[in-house]
Amino acid sequence: MLIDSHAHLLKEEFGEELEKELKKISESSVKIVNNIGYNLKSSEEAVRLTARYEFLFATVGIHPYDIKDFVSNNAVENICSLAKNKRVVAIGEIGLDYFRDISDFGDQKKYFKDQILIAKELGVPIIIHSRDAFKDTFNIIKETGYFNGVFHSFDYGIEEAKKILDSGMFISFSGMLTFKSKEKLKEVAKIVPLDRVLFETDSPYLAPVPKRGKRNTPLYVEYVYKTFSEIRGIKLEELEKIVEENFVRLFNRSKNFINGRHYVQDS
Ligand SMILES: [Zn+2]
Repeated sequence: MLIDSHAHLLKEEFGEELEKELKKISESSVKIVNNIGYNLKSSEEAVRLTARYEFLFATVGIHPYDIKDFVSNNAVENICSLAKNKRVVAIGEIGLDYFRDISDFGDQKKYFKDQILIAKELGVPIIIHSRDAFKDTFNIIKETGYFNGVFHSFDYGIEEAKKILDSGMFISFSGMLTFKSKEKLKEVAKIVPLDRVLFETDSPYLAPVPKRGKRNTPLYVEYVYKTFSEIRGIKLEELEKIVEENFVRLFNRSKNFINGRHYVQDS
């Protein structure tokens, strides 16, 4: 089975076609999708949708672009209460983005840390968005002492990857891995330990080759799997099994729900 560990299957992104898309995925070989919230509204929607679609898990959190939500909505409290739902498997996506100057950098840092602390208290992992901000991102995680999470749509180099891996965290590759221009990313894919890898689409963004330019969908996560399996010379079926084990190990709350199967609790 295929797993998309990061997509935004939400009204804001898919509009009137959301239900059609959800139905298509529910009939495909993509058996799990983490539906990722990025502000209060999308986090609530992601949680709501898990009640209707078995293949969906939700994550809740405030993205660096949406930090203004914290000021207007008492978000820490709201995120905490949403995260009590057992199908919420992580706090995210949260992090730092210095590439686009949308939210004040100081606010980004403050609320990133606050949200990591929520995750720490609940014992759920974090899904990290980090762009042009590796040093601060890593330092804040270090300050919290909570290295339980995944760098989503990873797009840094070998040095950064090594730091993340040494700390015990995961790396998730998106469709960018299929881009010709992303040689550096392919180098990272060559060295990442197999027990620390996840794949994602970040739908509706970042459609992989050969679907570039189209709206992305979790159905296209297979292209990320294929590219990685070619880089590493592993069979696709074997890779699918490894990624499934990784997913359940990181997103611990998922184990009670996946196809009624039982997993050994990580010690
Ligand atoms: Zn995302």
